[in-house]
Amino acid sequence: MYAGAAMAIVTLAGRPRVITVRASVFPSAEPLDQPGERTVWSVDASKLPNHSEYVGLESRPTSRPELTEARVVVSGGRPFRTSEEFENYVGRLADALNGAAGCTRALVDAGIAPNEWQVGQTGKVVAPQLYVALGISGAVQHLAGMKNSRVVVAVNSDPEAPMFSIATYGLVGDVRQIVPELIRELGK
Ligand SMILES: Cc1cc2nc3c(=O)[nH]c(=O)nc-3n(C[C@H](O)[C@H](O)[C@H](O)COP(=O)(O)OP(=O)(O)OC[C@H]3O[C@@H](n4cnc5c(N)ncnc54)[C@H](O)[C@@H]3O)c2cc1C
Repeated sequence: MYAGAAMAIVTLAGRPRVITVRASVFPSAEPLDQPGERTVWSVDASKLPNHSEYVGLESRPTSRPELTEARVVVSGGRPFRTSEEFENYVGRLADALNGAAGCTRALVDAGIAPNEWQVGQTGKVVAPQLYVALGISGAVQHLAGMKNSRVVVAVNSDPEAPMFSIATYGLVGDVRQIVPELIRELGK
């Protein structure tokens, strides 16, 4: 609850019990020896209640892996002021690591990055092997979407940034200086 700030063990009473799980929050379960019973229902779309309709799916074509399934996610925060700048630093580092690009809500609100790239409480939940946070303060709403990442690398000019408290490796410095150096080193 409260984006992971409060935890509780609860018991559900009554039936039916409906449980939804956010993708990538838990590792995949081992298949059971005895698979459960499965009931397949065929649905005739023309007979569905007609107060809702499928309008369409809007998503940008990308050559990068899907954010919630990527082994590496590189995310950027407020220091990136235009889409070009975001692409130049966050996108290029993501490509150098064969990863997906993500961002904070600050960039979505500013129209710099698309909504589907937002990581966090009101965005996507990711749990990659490596999460690189570039210029991200570490607000609780952002951490809710990435705190289960295996290794977290944070780059921030403020040594007191909360992101450093959950980072495995922290680099204090300017993203505009550090990211090109990282890309150069990875290229070697
Ligand atoms: C109900 C609600 C839901 C929300 N849901 C989400 C969500 O899903 N995802 C999300 O991300 N946010 C969410 N937010 C917003 C969240 O509270 C923060 O405002 C947001 O995450 C901050 O984004 P940021 O880290 O990019 O910006 P900031 O908090 O402004 O941090 C920018 C960081 O960049 C560093 N910096 C600045 N310049 C440089 C530089 N040149 N080099 C290196 N570092 C630099 C600064 O030191 C700072 O730490 C939500 C908020 C609310 C109220």
